[in-house]
Amino acid sequence: VTDNPASAAVRLPSAMFLYDKLEWRDTIKYALKKNLQVWCWISNARWELGQIHTISKDYIDIMLSNGNVHSVSRESILPANPHILDGVDNLIQLSYLNEPAVLHNIKYRYANDFIYTKAGPVLVAVNPFKEVPLYRRDCVIAYKQKLKDSPHIFATADTAFNEMMRDKKIGLALLDELFCVMSHSGESGAGKTETTKFAMQYLADVGGGGSIEDEVLQTNSILEAFGNAKTSRNDNSSRFSRVVQRETGERSYHVFYQLCAGASCGLKEELNLKAAYKYEYLKQSDCLTIDNVDDAKRFHVLMEALDVIKISKEDQKNVFSMLAAVLWLGNITFSVIDNENHVEVILGEGVTNAAKLMGCGVPNVMLSLSTRKIQAGNDSIVQKLTLQQAIDTRDALAKSIYCNLFDWLVGQINKSLGVGKCCTGRSISILDIFGFESFNNNGFEQFCINYANEQLQRHFNRHLFKLEQEAGSKFLGTAEKPVTRAVENAISILCAIWFKLERLVTVHEYAQDGIDWAKVEFLDNTDCLNLLEKKPLGVISLLDEESTFPKATDMTFANKLKQHLAGNHCFKGERGGAFRISHYVGELPQSFANNTLQPEKESSRFRQSSSFDLQKQSIVTKFKGQLFKLMQQLESTTPHFIRCIKPNSKQLPSMYEHDLVLQQLRCCGVLEVVRISRSGYPTRMTHQLFAERYGFLLLQISSSQDALSLSVAILQQFNVPPEMYRIAVLEDARNRFLQGIVWVQKNFR
Ligand code: ATP
Ligand code: MG
Repeated sequence: VTDNPASAAVRLPSAMFLYDKLEWRDTIKYALKKNLQVWCWISNARWELGQIHTISKDYIDIMLSNGNVHSVSRESILPANPHILDGVDNLIQLSYLNEPAVLHNIKYRYANDFIYTKAGPVLVAVNPFKEVPLYRRDCVIAYKQKLKDSPHIFATADTAFNEMMRDKKIGLALLDELFCVMSHSGESGAGKTETTKFAMQYLADVGGGGSIEDEVLQTNSILEAFGNAKTSRNDNSSRFSRVVQRETGERSYHVFYQLCAGASCGLKEELNLKAAYKYEYLKQSDCLTIDNVDDAKRFHVLMEALDVIKISKEDQKNVFSMLAAVLWLGNITFSVIDNENHVEVILGEGVTNAAKLMGCGVPNVMLSLSTRKIQAGNDSIVQKLTLQQAIDTRDALAKSIYCNLFDWLVGQINKSLGVGKCCTGRSISILDIFGFESFNNNGFEQFCINYANEQLQRHFNRHLFKLEQEAGSKFLGTAEKPVTRAVENAISILCAIWFKLERLVTVHEYAQDGIDWAKVEFLDNTDCLNLLEKKPLGVISLLDEESTFPKATDMTFANKLKQHLAGNHCFKGERGGAFRISHYVGELPQSFANNTLQPEKESSRFRQSSSFDLQKQSIVTKFKGQLFKLMQQLESTTPHFIRCIKPNSKQLPSMYEHDLVLQQLRCCGVLEVVRISRSGYPTRMTHQLFAERYGFLLLQISSSQDALSLSVAILQQFNVPPEMYRIAVLEDARNRFLQGIVWVQKNFR
């Protein structure tokens, strides 16, 4: 079903497939006899391109670019695509979909500033780390008017927008609310947030470019000020949980520095605000500024944005008061008062300013930060805190305030934009989400990130599974039905199943009248998710349980995990507090050391304390709840996936580090498509294109032959076994016939 003939015309021809693979030895011999150049990839330390010189029984002589000839075994080379395929728009157009071929294609495009490449339905975006002329208004217009269809975030946004509008037209919205989600995952600094902003820019434009669109765009500066921070890998990284502690050289959320640098004299006086270097929470990581960033200027942009989304001046002042309260809390210190390391709060400007800004009495704050109340039957006992406990309590309070402030802001933004009041019930959501993370030391933050990704992965699998079913039943079986969508779906199955999962699950087999679909094997990540989520013996439940024990420490938690999860194949206990979780991208080491348990314990303490009843749930449970809600939303959407790739770790333009890119392509499963594709029919071409491209190989050509018979003649001349290709005849919505050929070789390495 399509209301857009132009896009149908573009899509259908590319829907035909051809797996461009002849038996290697025969192909090479034949090509060499015809004086054709044959290229291949040789695996040295990394993949290198060479030209096949001669071929003998056991060895193949390859000439490298420096003119040297290497004699190698058949096993150490992979076929390279002919140069006419250099830099194709969509990886599915490659004849050979092996690892070096994919890497080379993305690199070739990147070198020419084509930072976007399609891999089936998924958009791959490589961060250029420089301004590229791809986002100007004329570019928006070109995509809007369908003058351009090359891979681009605008093209993806356009598809999402059109799908939404089309489904409205044919009444689908009445049955089902349709969300189109663009999700980005990948390395920190890969370009997710920038890509999200470009998508918003495009959608705001096609949406009419009015005041509401402007408001939506303005929310970026608010969310970035409160949600982003400088890290070692990205000056503007979308982060969470770093108010009280972070690595050296990294900053807390931008907004703290912006406030200190940009507040007017009057505001500074009201909040007793000092320069950033006066605050423990800000100065501890030895990084107060970002090159080329003017925090004071950004503060003014922030205030303007708060005005645009109609946050009153009074509320703005309250927001800044809470920020200042957090900063002053960090300056609160304690003195030890007995042999058991119990403490008292030192009465200084930290506690007086914090109390004033929070609207509490100073004695109350001092008491709450140095004692805790424990309920024992009908009695409540007041217990003194040790130094570490008191510091943790103070930090937990600071985090709670910030977290609540952020939630409140998001609520205000939504209120101002009228989210939820949309009369049509249709919307486009953009999900900017971190990819899997693994450092030498992985703590609670990485655990949450990887858990979210595991969930997202499941959603992606389910989505593709659905596509496959639709494609299997619609694409080939029923010629009278419109097939445009189904054809797209068919491409999706074959070319976008690119995730490396944990367990092989054979999904199903199709035996339709047209093409009998090869068995497509999926892997799924249910076991890993069970390890994390299962009740009562999953990592999250155990963490929750441990958090309620007053004597719990990171070590007691680690031991508990080892005790209960030792038999699980996704879990491996290590020495001390460390353990490993087998995620779908591989085994990632975890350690919950560094007081991971503390925030959990503190939150339960706040539950007992009447004065700071801020956090009702433990962090991990709250995170799980939010993730669950997000997944529910995702289930009712048509997802559009964008994979952002970081080309180098130095954040420099024109630098392509093969190993880093390869690792990311593997991690986000781009290369898995190769394996899956081999069990299907990955290369698709119209009969016309097939005949044009290979017709010259025929020994005899008659001018009267049509494209289909030419194609068949080529296949017969080379004795291509029938199970290696399929010929398809498809009908599009307007009853025009488009003919295609499908070709596969399954034993290709
Ligand atoms: P994190 O996970 O840390 O939030 P991220 O994937 O959101 O990282 P971004 O903040 O979007 O990464 O990008 C990092 C930087 O890369 C940007 O600040 C910008 O300088 C540059 N960048 C990303 N995408 C583009 C682009 N399309 N054009 C120009 N520069 C870009
Ligand atoms: Mg980001």
